Amino acid sequence: MIVTVRPGANPDSVREALVARGLWVTRHEGAGGTCLFLVRPYSGHVNADEVAAIDGVLGVAEPRGGHPRVDAQPQVLEIGGLALGPDRAPVVMAGPCSIESEEQIHDVARRLAARGARVLRGGAFKPRTSPYEFQGHGENALRWLAEAARAHGLLTVSEALGESSVECVAAHTDIVQIGSRNMHNSPLLRAAGRTGRPVLLKRGMAATIEEWLLAGEYLLDAGAAAVIFCERGIRSFDAETRNLLDLSAVALLTHVHRLVVVVDPSHALGRRDLIQPMSRAALAAGAAGLLLEVHDTPGRALSDGPQALTFPEFAAVLDGLPGLPQVQGSR
Ligand code: PEP
Ligand code: MN
Repeated sequence: MIVTVRPGANPDSVREALVARGLWVTRHEGAGGTCLFLVRPYSGHVNADEVAAIDGVLGVAEPRGGHPRVDAQPQVLEIGGLALGPDRAPVVMAGPCSIESEEQIHDVARRLAARGARVLRGGAFKPRTSPYEFQGHGENALRWLAEAARAHGLLTVSEALGESSVECVAAHTDIVQIGSRNMHNSPLLRAAGRTGRPVLLKRGMAATIEEWLLAGEYLLDAGAAAVIFCERGIRSFDAETRNLLDLSAVALLTHVHRLVVVVDPSHALGRRDLIQPMSRAALAAGAAGLLLEVHDTPGRALSDGPQALTFPEFAAVLDGLPGLPQVQGSR
């Protein structure tokens, strides 16, 4: 059972009232305030009405599964002045797959900010399938990303590839990204959670929805400020698109689990020509935002060129979306 403490009430006195009833209680500070979890089997006999009547209790809920901290996340996440969730304008996170140079990321930041993006993405530690492919510029790239974003009023998101780089990524970014290949890496999830940052959690390319939710639970249990779930396509049998964009999962997470989901059509499709219709479909399914790869010259990109949008294509995708605030800017 999840017990939410009323804002302004003393969580310790609520906790004492629960403990005095013989209940086993753990405490969690989430983006929505303090929650107390009554852990099974010790709390199996608890009466919800009695708990709801305790002074200082705002609400009582039954978790749907083995991920009470995920279930207790608020429907709207507030991150660095941005609100992600239902009835909020969709948030556009965009940028190159890899941060290729200081000049590149400044130019991209300027052009994307002018067009309405709110979060600048770019990989500094790249999870490449081959060891001979570009692996990223590391911490230098994170510095360039942070400076470029600051200059144009953007937040940042970048991937932490391993436990050795997660502190570094958290130190330079607003949101730590966990990539698809690492969704099952529980030591990394714990390390990312311990940074206390919000985390963008990509779905593993062959992960069930329950496994994805449990990966979120690892993050929140370790101390992550919030988890944004990111659907980026799952492995399928057809090679026409890079992955299969699972919009059923987006609808399920947003409408049933009431979680914040961002959709990454770039990695799902692997080709730029279908980004626009699938971005519209993602928002229709309930996504709170989009993660889009953009490059000034995709043919020369050091990674993921075929799926990168040019700036005019990016502008056209945004023009075709409902609910985005109109922003004047360069094309
Ligand atoms: C990325 O965002 O650049 C990336 C590598 O994504 P994924 O983990 O979804 O493959
Ligand atoms: Mn990429």
